[in-house]
Amino acid sequence: MTSTLDADAGVDKKGPKPIIEGRRNLATQIAVYVFILVPFAALVAAVPLLWGWGIGWVDVALAVFFFYWSGLGVTVGYHRLFTHGSFKAKRPLKIVLAVMGSMAVQSPPITWVADHRRHHAFSDREGDPHSPWLYGTSPWALTKGFWHAHMGWIFDHDTTNKQRFAPDLMADPDIQRVNKLFPYLTGLTLVLPGVIGGLISWSWWGAFTAFFWAGLVRVAVLHHVTWSTNSICHMIGERPFASRDKAANFWPLAILSFGESWHNLHHADPTCARHGVQRGQIDTSARLIWIFEKFGWVTDVRWPSEARLAKLAVTK
Ligand SMILES: [Zn+2]
Ligand SMILES: [Zn+2]
Repeated sequence: MTSTLDADAGVDKKGPKPIIEGRRNLATQIAVYVFILVPFAALVAAVPLLWGWGIGWVDVALAVFFFYWSGLGVTVGYHRLFTHGSFKAKRPLKIVLAVMGSMAVQSPPITWVADHRRHHAFSDREGDPHSPWLYGTSPWALTKGFWHAHMGWIFDHDTTNKQRFAPDLMADPDIQRVNKLFPYLTGLTLVLPGVIGGLISWSWWGAFTAFFWAGLVRVAVLHHVTWSTNSICHMIGERPFASRDKAANFWPLAILSFGESWHNLHHADPTCARHGVQRGQIDTSARLIWIFEKFGWVTDVRWPSEARLAKLAVTK
């Protein structure tokens, strides 16, 4: 994998490629609004519905399954494999991970990776697509920064230059194919829980509740968990390792985020396959990579070593 983790990534003989490649067209922008705001509205509606209306066990089971399926697709696939190359995956697993990640409705793999590599290249400086620190440090500036880092940035029209930040994925025909399937996978991830729920309960009502809870609400909850890594984990938490930005370890999100909230270590050592490296730091994504390794489905896993962690630790 080419080194894309520094600000000079993408420099070629003709000079550096621009960070931004263009602007989203109107149709894409409308789709972004619809697929971010509709699940969000379902999440808001879900809170009162939970009390007055209830939720069935089939809905809960499907919601948990699809939460793990799409969530681990983002953390293990999009993030640790495609963005950072923390391990190498056999071709079938690579394709499955790209499909799983797409089903989180966050963006196609190449777009996600380009945005995220740009985040690491400029972390908490001008050019970072979602830093909470770009408006200042007054309470109002930080409120604005939190909103921007959490979800405001997603509505930005500018698109990250994929040729600069993700040339390796653009040259991969498998990833290109999954990338093109993104609109269909978005439909599938919402409709499939409804179909399964309908078949299990053998009723239209069961299909609707499964679509609502395991489709819309699950997508919205996962959106906010992923976005919290960009907002909360760049503002609050512990910083035991030396990174050049504000990335922090925020333990309350460890389980929900599949280990991604150990974000300080991640920025200190971006290619490390395990983010929760200290005692008791739960990291489900790293555990899954470990299982894949035992099956022989992944190789060259970049596990942390004591010596490396000691070097990265903040010296007091
Ligand atoms: Zn970060
Ligand atoms: Zn990262």
